[in-house]
This record gives sequence, C-alpha cells and structure tokens, in this order.
Amino acid sequence: MQLASRLSKLEESATLAMSRLARELKAQGKDIISLSLGEPDFHTPQFIKDAAIEALNNNFTTYPPVPGYDDLRDAIVEKFKRDNGLNYKRENIIVSTGAKQSIANVVFSCVGEGDEVLIPAPYWVSYIEIVKMADGVPVVIPTTMETDFKLTADALEKAITPKTKMLIYSSPCNPTGSVYSYDELKALAAVIEKYPDLIVISDEIYEHINFKGKHESLAQFDAIFNQVVTINGVSKAWAMTGWRLGYIGAPVEIANACNKIQGQFTSGTNSIAQKAAVAAVKADVSVLTDMVAAFKNRRDLCLRLLNEIPGMKCSIPDGAFYLFPDISAYFGKKCGNTVIRTANDLSMYLLDEANVALVTGEAFGNEKCIRISYATSENILEEAISRIKIALAKLQ
Ligand code: PMP
Ligand code: GLU
Repeated sequence: MQLASRLSKLEESATLAMSRLARELKAQGKDIISLSLGEPDFHTPQFIKDAAIEALNNNFTTYPPVPGYDDLRDAIVEKFKRDNGLNYKRENIIVSTGAKQSIANVVFSCVGEGDEVLIPAPYWVSYIEIVKMADGVPVVIPTTMETDFKLTADALEKAITPKTKMLIYSSPCNPTGSVYSYDELKALAAVIEKYPDLIVISDEIYEHINFKGKHESLAQFDAIFNQVVTINGVSKAWAMTGWRLGYIGAPVEIANACNKIQGQFTSGTNSIAQKAAVAAVKADVSVLTDMVAAFKNRRDLCLRLLNEIPGMKCSIPDGAFYLFPDISAYFGKKCGNTVIRTANDLSMYLLDEANVALVTGEAFGNEKCIRISYATSENILEEAISRIKIALAKLQ
C-alpha cells in the first residue's frame, strides 16, 4: 500500500511504543515491570468522576462548542489567575483532546514549510514529530546534566536565525524533571522579547508535580505575554490521562486558529470529560499535596537505589515523575553475544534480561541516558531497580 509521504517522516511515539511492547510481553506471561509510560498510578479522584456521572445523567452527550464549554473555559481563566498570575480571557482559552492535541494545534497554526522550531534537548518525544508533520524544521539545542539540562539565554540567542518561528520547552521537564526558576525564565524572556515574531510553547503539564516550591510560568513576563502559549491539562495532576483533555492560554489569533483546526479535526473535546474537567480545574490544589509527597518519596528512593549502581549518573530532578540517568559508562560492555553500544541497546537489554521496560534517551534527543518513570509504587520500584542492578552487573 502506498501511504502518504508524510508518514515516512513520522516516528512512532517511543513512549507509547515501549509501553505497548511491555503490555504485549506481559500478555505472553512474562513478568514485566513497566517504568516506560509517564502516567500516574493514582485513580482519578471521586469528585471528578461524580462530575462526569452527573454530566452524563444531565445529557451532556451532544456536540460541545468546538473551543470548549463556556463554564470550563471560564474555570481555566480562573485557574490561570489563581495558580499562575496570568490574565487570560475566555477568548484566549481553547480546550482540546489532551495537551498533545493542544501542542499539535498550536504548531499547525504557526509553523509552515521550512520554519525552524527550537527544541532544547532532552525534549518530550512528540515535539519533534509534530513539528515534522507540520513541515517545520526541528532545531535541537543540546543541554547537559552539568547545567541541569536547562536552556540558557545565551544558547537560545545563538540558535535564533531569520527562519526561527517557535521555541518549545517543558517545565517541569519530561524527561529530565528539571524545573526552571523565576530568574532562569526571566533571562530567557529577555531574549524572547528581542524577537517579537518568535512564538514560545511553554508546556506546563507537570506544573503541580513540583518538589521545589512555586511553579513559574513564562507568560508572567508582560513584555512577552503575547508571544507565549501556555499549555496545560488535567492528565498528570488529576490522574486523568485516559480522559484526554488539555488546554491552552494563547494570544487570541492563535486561539482562533486552533479553534478552526479542531473544528475540522475533532469537533471539540469529549463533552463528559469537559464537565469532569470543570471540577478538576476548580478544585483546591492543596488536595494534591499527598500525591506530590508520594512522588517525592519515590524520587528519593529511586535516586538512593540508582546511586548504589556503579556507572549510573543521576541529576536530582525537581519535578515531574522521571529520572534521566546517564548510563554511557556501560557502552562497549557485553553479556554473552549482546554488546551494548547505545542507550537503545541498553534499554532493550534491560527489557530482555531484567524484564524492566524503560525508554531510551535517544527518543528524547540524548544518546547517553535512559528515562525511568517512577509513577508506580515503592515496592515495584525497589524490585525493578534491584533487577536492573543485577542485569547491569552481568555486563563486562
Ligand atoms: N507534554 C508533556 C511534556 C507530556 O509528558 C505529555 C504526556 N502526556 C503531554 C504533553 C501530553 O499530555 P496529554 O495526556 O494531556 O495529551
Ligand atoms: N507523556 C507520557 C510519556 O512521556 C505519556 C506518553 C505519551 O503521551 O506519549 O510517557
């Protein structure tokens, strides 16, 4: 079958591919522990489920308005004021089928053929692929563990060319867990202000999973407010990955463009999920304290156990639920006929030998690291890391 040429440019999502592989191996009876997918192991809170049941019983079952129900968009306006000090109006808010679609809408709205999109690495897997699908040119800006994997103002400015259209980054970051401080964002904002045609996607989906304290939004800097699209959603904080609901706060031209795109692609986001999201977005975020504390304990446990493994080099992530250790010390080692040359080789070796599924750093633009999602119970994490330790000790 002759598929469209755009498909040949498109990679499968590495995170979803690894979790699919883990699921298939489990179905074959293998005792696989999957630390591959970034998805909370908590259940959606009952008050959110109740809001969905009420919506269903009240027959919110017809096509919703394409940009989202007014009550949800207004609740999001209030959320942005309450948590981020951002003054959006309803017209700036578009609700979509997951933050992933929100990002795709914005990229398709702004990026055309040959436009360059700056993406600091390590980056979340889908940014590059979405840009490629929009015929844009991803321009990767590498960062290192020594600078906590963060983009500096200097590196940003050096990467900007007359073709640069957009910058995409996340904080807290998937896959590194790095969290940008106020001062770091202020320095980036000073560069962004000098290039008024530059649009920035600030992906803040892990906002509430922050061990460092206050979350900082890039759009808080007034001089660049109209250049920034703030991405957020309910998947991570409210354990609602399957409900598929994300949203943006954006300059009105971009919001209108996203509305037009999804009017042709999805006709808007699932009506029941939207009503459930009203409850989530309005809820007091202090109810998340226990979940954040659990994630922090798991992070500390994993760091302690991983640091006992020779050759593992970990940064200390301040947010999200990932560790991104450098495992390049194992390159060139072997076990039987298996030689480890890359992070990809190592993640496949750990899947075969330790029955632990992780994601190779190559998918996130870093060839020396692997990503471990610690969104699972402490017992499972202990078992997984013990298996990893045993398998790595076999490499000579
Ligand atoms: N951005 C980042 C950085 C993510 O890790 C994810 C993963 N889910 C998303 C966006 C997409 O979130 P959603 O589930 O709302 O589509
Ligand atoms: N964002 C999650 C991850 O990075 C979920 C997978 C996906 O949406 O691609 O694992």
